[in-house]
Amino acid sequence: MPATKLDGTALAKTIRAEIAEQVAEHVGRGHRPPGLATVLVGDDPASQVYVRNKSAACAKVGITSLEHRLTPDTPQADLDALIDRLNADPEVDGILVQLPLPQGLDSKRALHRISPAKDVDGFHPMNQGLLLEGLPGLRPCTPTACMSLLAHHGVNLKGLRAVVLGRSEIVGKPMALMLLEQHATVTIAHSRTKDLPAVCREADLLVAAVGRPGLVEGFWIKPDAVVVDVGINRVEDEELAARIFAAEPKKLETLRAKGSVLCGDVRFGEAMQVASAVTPVPGGVGPLTIAGLLSNTLEAANQNR
Ligand code: NAD
Repeated sequence: MPATKLDGTALAKTIRAEIAEQVAEHVGRGHRPPGLATVLVGDDPASQVYVRNKSAACAKVGITSLEHRLTPDTPQADLDALIDRLNADPEVDGILVQLPLPQGLDSKRALHRISPAKDVDGFHPMNQGLLLEGLPGLRPCTPTACMSLLAHHGVNLKGLRAVVLGRSEIVGKPMALMLLEQHATVTIAHSRTKDLPAVCREADLLVAAVGRPGLVEGFWIKPDAVVVDVGINRVEDEELAARIFAAEPKKLETLRAKGSVLCGDVRFGEAMQVASAVTPVPGGVGPLTIAGLLSNTLEAANQNR
């Protein structure tokens, strides 16, 4: 029997509607609408789309978004100065610096400069430290999104063997901590892990956050495992596509029609034949990540009052 598709779009819609209600209540209590400042440096087309989508999502729930655009040759000192201004601005509850930054800019320095109370991406070491200690704080949106999806679908994490593929500060590491907090037995696998397929095959829950299209093949997955695919990759190469979409002819058709197609780190068609539940890409973790950002902005607004 094919696996269940874990639909993130529908759940994100419900969460966004709840946030819109909470924002209306916040405003009804006499506060100004929560404000999210986005900082986009340079002209990376994908980053422009991400920032536009985030601003549109804010508008739909009543959060004010304040966009700041800087040219790709902006010196670090100017970026620092903008972050300092936003930290001090009483109209700004949350600050998001869109990554990646253009070459020559230090993203860690920028992220560390954001006030922890306005760090709605949850990337500041203070917030990462609170997560490490299991204390409340602003938490990274993507792993939080994965956790809401798992909770919504009633996946009991206690004692589960979980493998997180990828060890970035943004996804892999905080994901592993959140799973550990819910009592899963967690392995973090990465580019230097020996025999990745065998390690992944031990997982009752496999979370892939690597950024390599179709890396995880069907035989990497333990029968009846739950698979969460965080990766978002654009594939243009037909030869690669023919290999990774062998079980998904529709993706190949899209590629031929449009010149590119989006996919995750997991071969979705193959995973659906082995796993018990799989997130699609697009339409899985992505929409929930944006919902997490809205929720963090509202939380920051409540805390910063
Ligand atoms: P990253 O490049 O910072 O980290 C990738 C990790 O994968 C690294 O830890 C690396 O060790 C590991 N890795 C790389 N190649 C590997 C290989 N061949 N085998 C095993 N491990 C390997 O990336 P990131 O920021 O963590 O993002 C990962 C993916 O998730 C990307 O596709 C990104 O676009 C996507 N992403 C999606 C969302 C969302 O909302 N759905 C949010 C953030 C990131």
